[in-house]
Amino acid sequence: MPPPPPPLLLLLLAALAAAARPRCPLARGTTGDCHGPWAADSATCVDMPLRTCSDVAYNQTAFPTLLEHRSREAVEASSEYILLSVLHHLLEGQCNPDLRLLGCAVLAPRCEGGRVRRPCRHVCEGLREACQPAFDAIDMAWPYFLDCSRYFASVEEGCYDPLEKLREGLDVEEALPSGLPPTFLHFTHHSYAQMVRVLRRTAARCAHIAKTYSIGRSFNGKELLVIEFSARPGQHELMEPEVKLIGNIHGNEVAGREMLIYLAQYLCTEYLLGSARIQRLLNTTRIHLLPSMNPDGYEVAAAEGAGYNGWTSGRQNAQNLDLNRNFPDLTSEYYRLAESRSVRSDHIPIPQHYWWGKVAPETKAIMKWMRTTPFVLSASLHGGDLVVSYPFDFSKHPQEEKMFSPTPDEKMFKLLARAYADVHPMMMDRSENRCGGNFLKRGSIINGADWYSFTGGMSDFNYLHSNCFEITVELGCVKFPPEEALYTLWQHNKEPLLNFMETVHRGIKGVVMDKFGKPVKNARIVVKGIRHDITTAPDGDYWRLLPPGSHIVIAQAPGYSKVIKKVTIPARMKRAGRVDFILQPLGTRPKQLLLGPRRSGSGLRDPPGGASRYGEPEEPGQEPLGGRRQPSVGGSKPWWWSYFTSLSEHKPRWLLKY
Ligand SMILES: [Zn+2]
Repeated sequence: MPPPPPPLLLLLLAALAAAARPRCPLARGTTGDCHGPWAADSATCVDMPLRTCSDVAYNQTAFPTLLEHRSREAVEASSEYILLSVLHHLLEGQCNPDLRLLGCAVLAPRCEGGRVRRPCRHVCEGLREACQPAFDAIDMAWPYFLDCSRYFASVEEGCYDPLEKLREGLDVEEALPSGLPPTFLHFTHHSYAQMVRVLRRTAARCAHIAKTYSIGRSFNGKELLVIEFSARPGQHELMEPEVKLIGNIHGNEVAGREMLIYLAQYLCTEYLLGSARIQRLLNTTRIHLLPSMNPDGYEVAAAEGAGYNGWTSGRQNAQNLDLNRNFPDLTSEYYRLAESRSVRSDHIPIPQHYWWGKVAPETKAIMKWMRTTPFVLSASLHGGDLVVSYPFDFSKHPQEEKMFSPTPDEKMFKLLARAYADVHPMMMDRSENRCGGNFLKRGSIINGADWYSFTGGMSDFNYLHSNCFEITVELGCVKFPPEEALYTLWQHNKEPLLNFMETVHRGIKGVVMDKFGKPVKNARIVVKGIRHDITTAPDGDYWRLLPPGSHIVIAQAPGYSKVIKKVTIPARMKRAGRVDFILQPLGTRPKQLLLGPRRSGSGLRDPPGGASRYGEPEEPGQEPLGGRRQPSVGGSKPWWWSYFTSLSEHKPRWLLKY
């Protein structure tokens, strides 16, 4: 059962239901124009009075409108106008503000010098094509008053672009062809050039929170382009955790590449539109998206095309190397150390002999990226199955057969994998014959080595060499899905991607410093019972992903005495608790403890339960109508229709598809 709708939306929907039916009669004549100011072409221009349309690029309109509304009051009472003001919620932000501006161009036509100007038909058509899936998803008909052939004009007839304001600040050559606006998600496959253009354009639109940069080049010389989102793009901020999402490491597994291109546009648009959840995420997290780690392989796969791509062509990079087998195998090293009892599962150095083999430039670029950025959390997006797997990927079985091979952070990795799978509608689907049905009983998550074992994977390397925890997401059973499938893939993965990124705020974070407040870099954060240490970044800050429960946490660094604290992480905590450490140089005794905003507790050891102060500081994410986009089945009405019928006898039937 869907949760009750927000009261404001209910009111608006009630008003919409009560409002009159469309006034414009069916198309007349060959151009299909209604009678209205456009038919006459001369009009009396008046100031734009409509709130919902206050951000259009012009400031005068004329009455009667094309829909034969004769006053501002009549427009405001119309179901068309009310629909425009709730479209953003109904479509969960998709296609907006573009759709709203398009509607405004009809409901409050542009008036200039005593003449009404018409919006361009090609802009309407472009938007309709792009947004139709969003309407289909909620079983809503395309609004009759956005009929492109009836209410819009051609370039020859002197139309204007109602979305020109959204294109401001973009280079002319960066603008999309055929009048497509920049704010909607275009559910197509993107060539390398198109991908680069979308990422650059997105960064330009959101210049205050986004930035593109390259981490290196592929073997064939293509830039490995990353788009970064953060309150202060381009720099690490103290205690701000960093997340990376990587797509298309296997060139023929393309869904992840598209998901990250859409995600970049989505984050930018939602931030600009004021989404509380996205603003909170981007203001507290630095997010790096690398949609294609293997652009050369993609070219090979794309040349065959969706539906024709075999299981393997384009998987490798241009040197024929499988990039997810090309990282240093530290897992064997870990198993060897485990046998000799000098267990160490973190910051294992890269063995010399690794460099004697072939190392792909793409692999090197990732390793360099990891060295220069203190990543906390990561996901690598694949295709070919439907499951989330987590390290180790290399089996501890002596013959390398598949076998459950957990890391010391098994609990946390399970939690991370669940953060993705538990909110993915297909991964949660209980039918056994679905794609990825083998993983049904495990809740669609699995330890990598328990599935199949391989060496040189990126996730094992992340865990054993750096502070970063990486999971692997198999997005679906088709590696190169047809374009028609991309919209649904995005619908299924949007929430999991957001939810996963938000888990970077689980556990604890803080600063390790000396008694003068100077940061101590490379200090170790040890958690008792988990043989995997985290080290501090150059500013002395650290992040330790931890599952709920009580933990003994120790900070230590050469030349200093250890500091031990007990922290308790409540089950529902969503923001990392702050735990700072002040280290005393060896040979000196802790004297009067410094009091200050960073200090808490009264000794080197925090009182038990001391972390309860990190209780839930944030309200749950506001997700209007979230999770309610269930397409109707078998002739029943869509979910939003019941609001209309329960509230009024007047029903805007033109919103119904069937
Ligand atoms: Zn793969």
